[in-house]
Amino acid sequence: MGVGEIKRAVFLDRDGVLNPVVMRGGSPASPRGLDEFSLTPGAGEQVARLKEAGYVVIVVTNQPDVARGLLPQAELEAMHRVLAEGVGPDEIRFCPHDDHHQCACRKPKPGMLTQAADERGIDLTASWLVGDGYKDIEAARAAGVRAVLISADYNAQVAASRRVADLAEAVDLILEQG
Ligand SMILES: [Mg+2]
Repeated sequence: MGVGEIKRAVFLDRDGVLNPVVMRGGSPASPRGLDEFSLTPGAGEQVARLKEAGYVVIVVTNQPDVARGLLPQAELEAMHRVLAEGVGPDEIRFCPHDDHHQCACRKPKPGMLTQAADERGIDLTASWLVGDGYKDIEAARAAGVRAVLISADYNAQVAASRRVADLAEAVDLILEQG
């Protein structure tokens, strides 16, 4: 990347994007251990396409089960080693908090995006987020990032101006629009 060139990122939600969600009581939820964690087929190829096009790829994931005592942080870190090796993002950021912590990082707040942008000199207006829930879309809006929603049975009610079938289609759209 040349001097003065704009630095762009694609922020990727984790659950429902890079790994399948776990359904609990009819709602999409996060895996609570390696035994529930698997990578979405082809996710590594799609991340490689983005990196090849010059995007910094950053995973941004809410993991409130850490704060709730339902997910040991060591187990989360073990999942993220699998994710790092199998999918190859430039960075994995997670928010371990719950609502009552009133942190700045828990989506729909934009803190994970804005902090990464500050640290890495990323132009948010030239960046994208891919997610599967309203908190993703809202965090992107608050950060001034364009959002793409991956359609699922559980997000039919989410308002999104860009809706695609899967991660491959999201990457197609991003590479087409730049
Ligand atoms: Mg998700």
